[in-house]
Amino acid sequence: MLDVVIKDAVVVDGTGKPAFKADIGIAAGRIAVVARDVQQEAKRTIQAEGLYLAPGFIDPHSHSDSTLLVNPQAESKIRQGVTTEVIGNCGFSPAPLLDATAEEMWTAVGAPDLDVTWTSMTEYLERLRHPGIAVNVVPLVGHTNVRAAVLGFDELQPSTEQQAEMERLVQEAMEQGARGLSSGLYYPPGHYAQTEEVVGLARVAAHWDGVYASHIRSESDRLLEAVAEAVEIGEQAEIQVEIAHLKLSGYRNWEGVDRLLSILEDACSRGVRVGCDQYPYTASATWLSAILPYWAQEGGTKAVAERLRDAEVRAHLRKDWEENRAEWEERAGTRDWTDILVSDCGARPEVMGQNIAEIAPDEGKDPLEAVFDLIVDSQGQALAVFFDQLEDNVRTLMRHPLVVIGSDGNALAPYGVLSQSKPHPRSYGTFPRVLGRYVREEKVLSLEEAVKKMTSVSAERFGLTDRGVVREGAWADLVLFHAQTVADRATFTDPHQYPVGIPYVIVNGVVVIEQGQHTGALAGQVL
Ligand SMILES: [Zn+2]
Repeated sequence: MLDVVIKDAVVVDGTGKPAFKADIGIAAGRIAVVARDVQQEAKRTIQAEGLYLAPGFIDPHSHSDSTLLVNPQAESKIRQGVTTEVIGNCGFSPAPLLDATAEEMWTAVGAPDLDVTWTSMTEYLERLRHPGIAVNVVPLVGHTNVRAAVLGFDELQPSTEQQAEMERLVQEAMEQGARGLSSGLYYPPGHYAQTEEVVGLARVAAHWDGVYASHIRSESDRLLEAVAEAVEIGEQAEIQVEIAHLKLSGYRNWEGVDRLLSILEDACSRGVRVGCDQYPYTASATWLSAILPYWAQEGGTKAVAERLRDAEVRAHLRKDWEENRAEWEERAGTRDWTDILVSDCGARPEVMGQNIAEIAPDEGKDPLEAVFDLIVDSQGQALAVFFDQLEDNVRTLMRHPLVVIGSDGNALAPYGVLSQSKPHPRSYGTFPRVLGRYVREEKVLSLEEAVKKMTSVSAERFGLTDRGVVREGAWADLVLFHAQTVADRATFTDPHQYPVGIPYVIVNGVVVIEQGQHTGALAGQVL
């Protein structure tokens, strides 16, 4: 007896092979049968005539570390068809949280109000498992957590003993269930690390067949060097590399897409295992404080806010801005204040959704002063969206076989505390946007190629056997969608909107989205 049978779906199986019509039978959480006409009895039947069926989407770059604890239903992700999220990205992971650095790290991960009851990866994963989660989770351990625990937030280099201690912390997290190491070499204090330090830690992760996922050192003027560094780390540590949210940020760099891709292709031809993910938008998002020179960012977010209270520091920064404009543009990826939109600032909710050029005159300030005030008022936590990319480059990268789809967003909900900001719409729209806009409307990719980039390629990179494909024996993580109507609805000004055209999502054989509604099932596992 099957648990579920899905009748008459058009199956896009995740491998890239042409879609075919079939029935799918599910038993004990796995796909029991894929055949043209399944006659076995089932406890329930889903009539899928006119629907496409694909493996559940794998989001290789998520930041749901804290939001899954706030709302385990993972609303904004599961409704896109995402059934697995890789968390702990960009160097910031939910564990380990050690000693004096715990609070600062947890704030960076995004939920300072949560009651933090854990320090280790084991304890954090236990907290995820009870009460459970709607999606599967693949945890990474963050380089920044490990570095901050051993060296703090200042610009320091590790002694041999300190390097060994960091390696021990990575080892411990891997033993406790992490599936790789992430780094955020763009952000201090991760930024202070030299390549060699990261190679040492990546070797430990490689020993456990882990992945090295990196927010590289620059996505703007020094992008090519930063990509080369990620490749070098992969080569020396003999580890699978995932370059996060690949983009050419900043107008000065928009011409460089061919050079970027040739570095990656050369690496592959030398046998380095390197891949990338991308979100389908021309804007990025991060802390507003990331536009400051590195000396001003030193010491953690509170230290930054404290520093900016000082009139002398502000004067110094203003001078730096006047004299070194290119460097400010390098960090921001934008040249106009209209291109920076405040997305989250709990202390000043009235400015959320407005750009700096709008906020400043409203407050009778010049833009730089308005930015300083936002950073101070938010204790360094203000987030912003930066319109920094070229649409043509988004398409070119999307077509490349090394590039998969990832959101760089987190699981949010249009109700409760997770609805109280104007986040980048990628948290709600990434996967359906690719299917609607880039597959159906613009024909940048075929449907089969797009689904492959959302499923089997990421499964392989992260070592997820039996996921990311529709085949007998694989876990029944599945999504059913209308190819003719699937679309994102979230926008920069109105982001908390679910996509349309995705009526069913199944996780480990359990129906979590049924006729577009969340069943409340928490069927995800820590993988
Ligand atoms: Zn990042």
